[in-house]
Amino acid sequence: MNLENLVRENIKRLTPYSSARKEYSGSARIFLDANENSFGSPLKENYNRYPDPLQTEIKEKVAGWNEIKPSQIFVGNGSDEAIDLLFRIFCRPQIDNIVICPPTYGMYEVSAEINDVEIKRAYLTENFQLNVEAIKKTFDEKSKLLFICSPNNPTGNSFSRDEILDLARCFQGIVVVDEAYIHFSGEKSLTGEIGNFPNLVVLQTFSKAWGLAGLRVGLAFASEEIIKLFNKVKPPYNISQIAQQAIAKAFENRAQVEKIIAEIIDEREKLIEKLNDYSFVTGIYPTDANFVLVKTVDADSVYKFLLDEKIVVRNRNNVELCAGCLRITIGTPVENENLLKALEKFTA
Ligand code: PMP
Repeated sequence: MNLENLVRENIKRLTPYSSARKEYSGSARIFLDANENSFGSPLKENYNRYPDPLQTEIKEKVAGWNEIKPSQIFVGNGSDEAIDLLFRIFCRPQIDNIVICPPTYGMYEVSAEINDVEIKRAYLTENFQLNVEAIKKTFDEKSKLLFICSPNNPTGNSFSRDEILDLARCFQGIVVVDEAYIHFSGEKSLTGEIGNFPNLVVLQTFSKAWGLAGLRVGLAFASEEIIKLFNKVKPPYNISQIAQQAIAKAFENRAQVEKIIAEIIDEREKLIEKLNDYSFVTGIYPTDANFVLVKTVDADSVYKFLLDEKIVVRNRNNVELCAGCLRITIGTPVENENLLKALEKFTA
């Protein structure tokens, strides 16, 4: 894999936007460089200054947590921003293509469509495993990104580490491993392999296990060279001051994160056991995530019934290989109890 050959020419040529705060480092007395409002704002908190464009504090904290260097981390406005930037860096519209393994997270397709990039599909097997041979046959010299979501959304299962790494060895483009749900699984993250695989990008997020979806903060881990490309293309101040402060604060209470993860996993197992007793449930797929894919005799009817009960789950009935399936997020004990009570009233 030669990174130089993968990157779009316009991105290689690009002179990135140079923000006022980036051009200056050191200590100063008065800042009159960024056209901010020096007088303040209606809020008592100070948000009148632009935030750190490179999110130094967050990166240091994340680096310590993942045993990785700050220079190997990109912080995005959700991991969705990292997904979009990968297209902009590597995929020439109407020329290149990407490979996805459906059923999987929908944003890979949406980002591809937005960027006018062809989507090639190598479907998972019947029991939701990677079809490694099919994937290898699917990619060609114009395939720039291969997306592997592990644990996978919406199926919930993790993929074999060896198979992912085997694909990373064979694939001449960038392998993007989306680990949005990794903290709910017993599997080890692939972030430790960044140094061994120059074409590996691992995505994680603060939206799931950390319970901070409202802040919109996601992460990409990759070689320094790839992170430099992210930084070149990203909007200058992509993470707000509020989000940066809140993430730094969240690190002070990491024990709480671990505790909640354990509780969610505990609830997940309880919910699965109880759901198994319902006659309209024909199968529950193994899950490593904070949701479970449930096969029913009639997903549309169950979905509508729950809506009438003011309970919203995700109907995956029309998704390839997921006919009859509902994806249910693990709620609090009270929420799950309410769900189960409502389902008791459902008759197919
Ligand atoms: N990847 C996967 C697999 C997801 O399910 C989601 C959110 N549903 C995301 C990424 C996006 O997460 P974020 O909130 O970090 O943009």
